[in-house]
Amino acid sequence: MKIATPLVAWQRTHGRHGLPWQQTRDPYRVWLSEIMLQQTQVTAVIPYYQKFLIRFPDVARLACAPSQEVMAHWAGLGYYARARNLHACAQRVMQDWGGDFPPDAQGLATLPGIGPSTAAAIAAFCYGERSAILDGNVKRVLARYFAIDGDPTTRAIEQTLWQLARNELPTAARLRRDPMMMTAHTQGLMDLGATVCTRSRAQCTQCPLKKGCAAFAQGRVEELPWPRAKKKLPERSTGMLIACHRGKVLLQQRPDTGIWGGLWSLPEFDGGLSAKAGCDQLGVTVSKMQQLSAFLHVFTHYRLTIEPVLAHASSTRIAAANESNTKQTEWVPLSQLSARGMPAPVRKLLDGLLADQLLG
Ligand code: SF4
Repeated sequence: MKIATPLVAWQRTHGRHGLPWQQTRDPYRVWLSEIMLQQTQVTAVIPYYQKFLIRFPDVARLACAPSQEVMAHWAGLGYYARARNLHACAQRVMQDWGGDFPPDAQGLATLPGIGPSTAAAIAAFCYGERSAILDGNVKRVLARYFAIDGDPTTRAIEQTLWQLARNELPTAARLRRDPMMMTAHTQGLMDLGATVCTRSRAQCTQCPLKKGCAAFAQGRVEELPWPRAKKKLPERSTGMLIACHRGKVLLQQRPDTGIWGGLWSLPEFDGGLSAKAGCDQLGVTVSKMQQLSAFLHVFTHYRLTIEPVLAHASSTRIAAANESNTKQTEWVPLSQLSARGMPAPVRKLLDGLLADQLLG
């Protein structure tokens, strides 16, 4: 155990203390922050976290909320599977745990969307449990401190890093003397990775671990950890129909699973269909159509070129097949667009058209 003592001392004087989720040991609030913080910057999370808590102040109210409302409060944060799992997790806590989160990392890790590192973080922050975390930031700190060669996303290197993370935990005896040490240790690793041992331009001279850091001693900070082997992402394209009529836009709700699951988006036409054929399929009669500039949206596993077409509809009629399932296809007043959970690129597209007053 070489890291814990300098890390905890540093966290207590230089670490982050004013974040909204640090003022509590309530597992609901800590869990919510940990899920929101996955692959997302603190500054982006704060407003979402605060707004979410106003609408869903406890696990019971989140569990019984309509999934659409949960998705609407998440829209813009990305990685929407997190929101679906969040809702499912709240329901499991109510059904299987009587409304209380499991009391240890092992139990927490059985819930939807909570992996071993998130479970350990919640248990450390809420219960002071001695359990190791290993998120992306911690992997970077450990890979540098111990000069671990190899791609940290591979199973073998990940196992090595988990073992190191466990070895570096404060001892049980230290935790008995200083029960808050586990919180400071866990938060310290997160803070160090986010603010000092950053991906580029690590500030080693300010680092509390520089004395023992192998990468620093060997001048290998820039080369560690090894970057993930790059795969060329597949390219896809889709047409998006922006049908509008007298202050309304036609939206479709995406299926619950898959990309943008459960969010409201624009009808898509692809597979060789033209925009006109897409309108015909929906039963929308169009008086004027305009092709807009295509733009790229990059997902983690593919690149999507979106080709939008603006269509002025003659009425709000849609084909019976669509009418019968009003949950999936709906004319939505422009004034109500902000209340719908939408994928970020669709929201940006519609906001741009609204600002240019092109949605009549
Ligand atoms: S000395 Fe530099 S590379 Fe080593 S842990 Fe600190 S910031 Fe990271």
